[in-house]
Amino acid sequence: MLTESSLPGVVDAHVHFRDPGPVYKEDWESGSTSAAAGGVTTVIDQPNTNPSTKDARSFDLKLDRAKNHSVIDFCINGGPGRIEEQVALGATAIGEIFTYEYTDTKLRILLNEVEKAGALPTIHAEDGQTIRENTNRLLNDHSPVAYSSARPKLAEAAAVEKVLSWISRAHICHVSTIQGMDLANVARKAGKKVSCEVCPHHLLLNCRDYKKQGTFLKINPPLRDPSDNQALWAGLRDGFIDIVASDHAPHLPEEKKMEIWEAPAGVPGVETMLPLMLMAVRSNLISLERLVEAMAERPAQIFGLKSKGQIAPGKDADLVLVDPKAVTRINADRLHSRAEWTPYEGREAIFPQATIVRGTVVFEDDLQVRPGYGRFQARLS
Ligand SMILES: [Zn+2]
Repeated sequence: MLTESSLPGVVDAHVHFRDPGPVYKEDWESGSTSAAAGGVTTVIDQPNTNPSTKDARSFDLKLDRAKNHSVIDFCINGGPGRIEEQVALGATAIGEIFTYEYTDTKLRILLNEVEKAGALPTIHAEDGQTIRENTNRLLNDHSPVAYSSARPKLAEAAAVEKVLSWISRAHICHVSTIQGMDLANVARKAGKKVSCEVCPHHLLLNCRDYKKQGTFLKINPPLRDPSDNQALWAGLRDGFIDIVASDHAPHLPEEKKMEIWEAPAGVPGVETMLPLMLMAVRSNLISLERLVEAMAERPAQIFGLKSKGQIAPGKDADLVLVDPKAVTRINADRLHSRAEWTPYEGREAIFPQATIVRGTVVFEDDLQVRPGYGRFQARLS
């Protein structure tokens, strides 16, 4: 049952804050404010910004921007490039590594480098060859659902299987299919250190939603079938899936409106993640204990955030105050992302009453701290 309570602040292990880069979509201030309003107290930012995070210089550039503008605590992932330099500066992990951007040979070399640097690779698992073959076949089909067919379930399975046959330690980002989830667990049972993640959009949306929202729902990996939603919920409940992360990837409506092959991939989600998941607790789709584990404790463990993830002595006082009676409907006008839209418009949700980072209220009805309050959580081990 969901009662009035304080929960540990959410650690969102997968956000794309666009800063440095196309900050008209999001920057550290808007992204972290959106996170704080949704009960997220620490984010891990991904390297595909502009410039991409790939060496000491680009890492420091992002670090500088985040330090000056983030209202919540933050981590920065390193990207393919000078891996050791980024690890030395406190990169949390290396990735997400988009498997479809590499040939097998190059991907193996990259994964070896990550392993040698003692870093954790995070994997966006979709097989390039499978995507290319199916995309060529479908390019004349302009219906949004063609996008899901162009990146079939098989592409995820093939990439997960391949990567986990090569390396012994990895985090698999946003599993979207039964097959992807199962293959990660086969590797885990075989003794490999594998964790995996699911996003709210792969739990709550599927191909049927293209009908209403069309190209706005273009994401990678794409939306799947209702049966996958159900299997992912079961996997999350049973612990086959370790964590929930948002893959917050904001784009403006005029960009998302474009023709399916032209529109950019990604949906916003950092602010609506916990509110939607709290509704799922109310609807008995998942227990509150399991939710807290998957959104705070376990991501902190996987990504080495020693002072985060739990309400306990010695940990930072990162808290979310929740009133289970405060059910509202999601309305993009009241969200804080520059994306200015949400795939969950009109859905019921429970937004936090207040979000606290290191003992200070950062969000309560509105922002309560200055940009720059957030601290870098370096991974130094
Ligand atoms: Zn991804």
